Amino acid sequence: MSLNHVRPWRNIYRRKSRQIMVGNVPVGGDAPIAVQTMTNTLTTDVAATVAQVQAAAEAGADIVRVSVPDEASSKALKEIVRESPVPIVADIHFHYKRGIESAEAGAACLRINPGNIGDEARVKEVIKAARDHNCSIRIGVNAGSLEKHLLEKYAEPCPEAMVESGLEHIRILQDNDFHEFKISVKASDVFLSAAAYQGIAEATDAPIHLGITEAGGLVSGTIKSAIGLGNLLWMGIGDTIRVSLSADPVEEVKVGYEILKSLGLRHRGVNIISCPSCARQGFDVIKTVEALEQRLEHIKTPMSLSIIGCVVNGPGEALMTDVGFTGGGAGSGMVYLAGKASHKMSNDQMIDHIVEQVEKKAAELDAAQEAAE
Ligand code: SF4
Repeated sequence: MSLNHVRPWRNIYRRKSRQIMVGNVPVGGDAPIAVQTMTNTLTTDVAATVAQVQAAAEAGADIVRVSVPDEASSKALKEIVRESPVPIVADIHFHYKRGIESAEAGAACLRINPGNIGDEARVKEVIKAARDHNCSIRIGVNAGSLEKHLLEKYAEPCPEAMVESGLEHIRILQDNDFHEFKISVKASDVFLSAAAYQGIAEATDAPIHLGITEAGGLVSGTIKSAIGLGNLLWMGIGDTIRVSLSADPVEEVKVGYEILKSLGLRHRGVNIISCPSCARQGFDVIKTVEALEQRLEHIKTPMSLSIIGCVVNGPGEALMTDVGFTGGGAGSGMVYLAGKASHKMSNDQMIDHIVEQVEKKAAELDAAQEAAE
């Protein structure tokens, strides 16, 4: 449930799932919903991959996935894991040996579908490697690669086929007494994804990894993910998310966080509330917000900032934010601190001044948080 007890219309009741560990990150149960992304460098290019993992972690990624298509990649994975500040998930398709090698290389989780990696003996070997190396498993059902017998049974990818596929893979792990797994049932279609996720959420208590696969570019993919994942998260479904965009992994992390922030499920950094601007604006709202977004990227403390063009909505929004600025007349505006009008500031100095005020407030909030711990 979200923290807002006095506003019950904001509460989200999370589905109760088992908790597993992905390295040192708990996933499921009452753990915060983890944000993931995936590298798009060649895994064998260790320096480039590590740089991407670090940038994603700096942007807030809790877990990063790396493709392991061949033996050279499994070898590189060992170095990547050593350098990574966050747990690494190895993405495996079909090659059971890559699964074993990745577990040995220190992957925190294998994304592998046990039904697709060959006979029982191979499956047992992979599960043994995962168990021996404290590695969890993500079953990743995808509407685009459903098993042949399910496509024959259901004629086309549909929620029932995806749930059945997921349960078949789950059964293999359970038959081998392996329970450290989570599951995803992704599709590029938001209706299909949402229905499949609802089905799997009812059928198992495993933690759920949410994603709309192949969602598209930065704008279209963000919208698709916000609708698909937002809807499921609002229903309480989802323990970890990845927003798939044809864009830099850092963008995926930012979008993932924004979705969680919009639903009050996680908080990180400065939440900027700003107006679209119009002829009434007392300063250039759009340019100011662009500049502030960049200048405040380093702030990780959850806090809010309102940047409003004029007094129509400015004072009202400022009431609910930690720091606020409302445009006025004659080249200056009003700075609000903790919801109260504090002092005037000229437009030409306001960006530096607001950055200063936000940094000060972040330090205060951090100190209060530390004192409370
Ligand atoms: S707050 Fe003022 S400047 Fe901003 S959009 Fe509304 S009326 Fe226009």
